Amino acid sequence: MIPPNPDDTRLLPPTPEGLAEAARQLAAGALVAFPTETVYGLGGDARSDLACARIFEAKGRPRFNPLIVHVADLAAARRIARFDDRAERLAGAFWPGPLTLVLPLAEGAGLSPLVTAGLPTVAVRVPEHPVARALLAVFGGPLAAPSANPSGRVSPTRAAHVMAGLAGRIAAVVDGGDCAVGVESTILGLDGPARLLRPGGLPAEALEAALGQPLASGDNGGGDAARPSAPGQLASHYAPGAAVRLEATEAGKDEIWLGFGPQAAGAALNLSPAGDLVEAAANLFHYLREADALAGNGGRIAVSPVPERGLGRAINDRLRRAAAPRG
Ligand code: AMP
Ligand code: MG
Repeated sequence: MIPPNPDDTRLLPPTPEGLAEAARQLAAGALVAFPTETVYGLGGDARSDLACARIFEAKGRPRFNPLIVHVADLAAARRIARFDDRAERLAGAFWPGPLTLVLPLAEGAGLSPLVTAGLPTVAVRVPEHPVARALLAVFGGPLAAPSANPSGRVSPTRAAHVMAGLAGRIAAVVDGGDCAVGVESTILGLDGPARLLRPGGLPAEALEAALGQPLASGDNGGGDAARPSAPGQLASHYAPGAAVRLEATEAGKDEIWLGFGPQAAGAALNLSPAGDLVEAAANLFHYLREADALAGNGGRIAVSPVPERGLGRAINDRLRRAAAPRG
């Protein structure tokens, strides 16, 4: 592999020219870090499988946990998520701002399944930072954006922090100075009774006051580093109906072979015929669904070995969950 060259990452000013260049990069599927009022986000087009796979690769994330989608305003949020009265009230009171709502995914939302990790819900927020808002307006679409740091490291609150962690791995950083809040957004689950999924920049008391009721607390099972969750709690992530067999080198009777690499030339579906892990990650959720449909009732999915490096770790984590004994 070619080592990353830090000079490949451009530092862009938050001017109309800088934002236009950032939006051009994003539209081409590249990654651009940008300031929000909480921390710097690592942005990619939330509708692009390849851009979303690149986010996991750039961060070195060992798991496909769901990503927060950043949108320009409430109207854009309503296009990807279903809002009930509680959600409308909280969005009206606290957006733009450091509040992320986990809501049922809207029909036809058009997001990459890597954003939701295959869940029927989506985490969405409208950031307040003027540079984030300007970028979203120029780009004109939803941006998936986890914190712009390598997995497991401290979240960045200035452009130099992003450069120190990710230079050479992303296309650009828009420099918007220091982040005012400095901690991540508060995440509230509203796909059932209101649950505090992550404390953050907006105090829980403010949410309770607006809702007129106390919040339940609950792990979101998303595997957030600050709140490790037991693997069992990830059971809600999409699991195929068909049984899954790993380390397959051919398809047995009643099996649909989900291959990887040139060795799997006979596979019904191939995550990446060339053996490219970013391409395989981009295809993973779509192909699992397709293989599931092809396997039908009582069928099985046989999956080729995937190398345990780079995005292969996240792919294997997801496949092991799919293959784990069902409860
Ligand atoms: P980060 O992207 O690093 O800021 O972390 C995003 C957080 O949002 C993680 O803790 C995720 O598990 C959580 N999250 C994102 N989408 C969902 C979702 N659909 N359901 C539950 N939690 C979510
Ligand atoms: Mg983070």
